Amino acid sequence: LITIDHLCKAFGDHVVLRDISTTIREGEVVAIIGPSGCGKSTFLRSLNLLERPTSGHILFEGTDITSPEININKMRERIGMVFQQFNLFPNMTIRRNIMLAPVTLGKLSRQEAAATADHLLQRVGLADKADAWPDSLSGGQRQRVAIARALAMNPDVMLFDEPTSALDPEMVGEVLQIMRDLAHSGMTMVVVTHEMSFARDVASRVLFFNGGVIEEEGKPEDIFCHPRSERLKSFLKR
Ligand code: ATP
Ligand code: MG
Repeated sequence: LITIDHLCKAFGDHVVLRDISTTIREGEVVAIIGPSGCGKSTFLRSLNLLERPTSGHILFEGTDITSPEININKMRERIGMVFQQFNLFPNMTIRRNIMLAPVTLGKLSRQEAAATADHLLQRVGLADKADAWPDSLSGGQRQRVAIARALAMNPDVMLFDEPTSALDPEMVGEVLQIMRDLAHSGMTMVVVTHEMSFARDVASRVLFFNGGVIEEEGKPEDIFCHPRSERLKSFLKR
């Protein structure tokens, strides 16, 4: 689905990603772990060109999205993204928040979008909140809405950047459960996370980033039970 080919990214002379190559296959759940500042967010943001690669290529469904001719907005419609901060529009009800992108971009009629929103709210366990305002929701509920909002565009892949790390501990579980359900439904997902239990239980593959490279990758069982590199071993001890 996504092929990353010798991806490099520097900010000025600060090299953040050095020669990353990997492939995200359809239906895979790829967890990205690694120490702070190692380039996890930069990598994820590169996948929909929120960061422009310094060199290297990214092929999304066979199309090189780093090529200048590409319509990046069209391509982004296929990629859902959920951040640490949920960024819901405070002046819109929950239903409107979810309807906004598909209606604005002409993917769905208002009626279809409203039905989709209600269906997705049911899926994330918030059917009763459609007419509520974002301010009245807990952090965990807002993040579940943010996931529903991304799903409203019917994306081919969902990118998550530490979706639970801004949440109070008691709300982490409800968001992870939605992500588990999504994974089991067959969604292709790339998840930057500090939640090792999620990576271990849900991921089909784990990438350990360190110093801008994929230091080690493998099945969760290999990464967590049989780590090879010293850096991964010491990371897991923490
Ligand atoms: P964390 O676990 O703390 O979220 P991370 O692995 O996601 O860390 P990144 O956010 O990708 O790390 O950042 C990697 C490096 O790139 C850091 O040193 C950061 O300061 C730098 N960096 C990120 N974005 C920019 C930017 N827009 N301009 C300059 N430097 C940046
Ligand atoms: Mg980050």
